[in-house]
Amino acid sequence: MQIFECPFCGERNETEFHFLTEAGKERPEPAEEVSDSRWAEYLYLHKSPRGKTSEIWVHIPCGEFFILQRDTVTREVYQSISLQDYQTKKV
Ligand SMILES: [Zn+2]
Repeated sequence: MQIFECPFCGERNETEFHFLTEAGKERPEPAEEVSDSRWAEYLYLHKSPRGKTSEIWVHIPCGEFFILQRDTVTREVYQSISLQDYQTKKV
């Protein structure tokens, strides 16, 4: 059992969180010209790197999305950042 930190609620049990996708994926554009296979790749394929990674998660009880930076091998959590702070480069 792991403890993750929601940037809005604080530390909570991992069962309260849901993985959404890798952070930093670029949405293919223009949407009307993107093939079905490219959309499927964008939506469903993940690199799943070993080691330090940045991912988008949601804390289910509060419904907030955030960036979770963690190590997939050691399970160490480095930090949790709200999407707003991440996008405005406050971190
Ligand atoms: Zn929360």
